[in-house]
Amino acid sequence: MPTDHATKTPTIEPIRRDTRQRRAVRDALAHAKAFVSAQELHAALRETGDRIGLATVYRALADLAGDAEADVIQSDDGETRYRACDTDAHHHHVICRECGLTVEVQADTVERWLASVAAEHGFVEAEHTVNIFGMCAECARAR
Ligand SMILES: [Zn+2]
Ligand SMILES: [Zn+2]
Ligand SMILES: [Zn+2]
Repeated sequence: MPTDHATKTPTIEPIRRDTRQRRAVRDALAHAKAFVSAQELHAALRETGDRIGLATVYRALADLAGDAEADVIQSDDGETRYRACDTDAHHHHVICRECGLTVEVQADTVERWLASVAAEHGFVEAEHTVNIFGMCAECARAR
């Protein structure tokens, strides 16, 4: 199903409201330094006085991820976290599990290896998600 282009149907109230809320979620995500959960983003929005509901935040984040406007990871605690990344190009993340610091990296060696493994097994249209979790230098120093 094609996504709604709300600007073309301004008379339908629910779509207009969703668009404003989606924009609020996108802005909040852009200001977040690290990967954030829907609950964390919801709390941040409420703090600014936005009365947005948690379910709406969940839906907006899923939409943004579906439209490739946000990157998604599953963190150690099993929670889905989102981030508005600096680049639209395919990339990977090195993430500090203490403070959430995230570095975006390109990894040609990894791309080539994954492509060759998929080809070896006769797979086409292979996709992958590779993220490195660890402790950043600053957090390690603070220990
Ligand atoms: Zn990213
Ligand atoms: Zn850190
Ligand atoms: Zn890759």
